[in-house]
Amino acid sequence: MIDNFDCVIPFHLEKSNIRGRLVRLDGMIQDIIKHHHYPPLVNYYLGQAITLSLAIASCFKFHGLFTLQITGNGPLKLLVVDISKEGHVRACARFDADKITVLDESDLQNSVRVFGEGYFAFTIEPEQDENRYQGVVELTGTSLAEAAHHFFRQSEQLETGLILASSSYGATEATLGAAAIMIQRMPLPTNVSIEDKEQLDDEWIHAMSLVGSITKKELLDRQITNESLLYRLFWENGVRVHDPKTYISKCRCSSSKIQDMLSTFSTTEIKDMVMDEKISVTCEFCGRQYDFKEEEVVRLPE
Ligand SMILES: [Zn+2]
Repeated sequence: MIDNFDCVIPFHLEKSNIRGRLVRLDGMIQDIIKHHHYPPLVNYYLGQAITLSLAIASCFKFHGLFTLQITGNGPLKLLVVDISKEGHVRACARFDADKITVLDESDLQNSVRVFGEGYFAFTIEPEQDENRYQGVVELTGTSLAEAAHHFFRQSEQLETGLILASSSYGATEATLGAAAIMIQRMPLPTNVSIEDKEQLDDEWIHAMSLVGSITKKELLDRQITNESLLYRLFWENGVRVHDPKTYISKCRCSSSKIQDMLSTFSTTEIKDMVMDEKISVTCEFCGRQYDFKEEEVVRLPE
């Protein structure tokens, strides 16, 4: 049986000139959060940020690296998600531990209190001749979905409808799940008649109301297959479901990459890093620890 989760399912509504993405994740984000031991509130937002990243990234054709960064001056200071072209995902967070403990379940719907003022930015780092793409908007609204809507409006992307769902507060590395459904209105054909345009306007409004009717429970229910979820919702719109793309939790760190990073420090800085005759560096994404002898670290001239 094909797993319904940890993948992105592209679909389109043939009659309505609309494309969409269904993202359903559990094992993959559980694998990511188990490295970190973050508080529940951080896990909740990290799960949503990963889901949102996959919904956005899967709309772009890229051969490099997709990164989403959400930064703020509130208790949760930074969320980073990156996705490689191979479908490897990693993510981490930085936060003020004292201020985070003051927040509670009610703050799941109040991202302003969680992030404070900040930015929502994503970057596509190219490989070879592609152009680097960056989109940045201020964090607005009370949820990451609202921040993403703001991004789509500001960056003159296609008209977009997006629902994000996560497991309830307190979900653990064994139970956390997150899902998203996103629809986008494709550009109108150039020679469209007024009647057809009005028809497509109505279809868009109708599709948005259908997306709005889906429940968090349905999105996160493993017993409901992706196909039946989409057919149930959009059977009138001529929905076509395409092959899913699977994503896994995998870090890109390596001993040579960490050595390259250390080589940018001065001799004095390197000496300051030596503890117990070694330099230890822990990867912020996966928690793996790398140890080097001082002489192994190549230094730039002072
Ligand atoms: Zn790593």
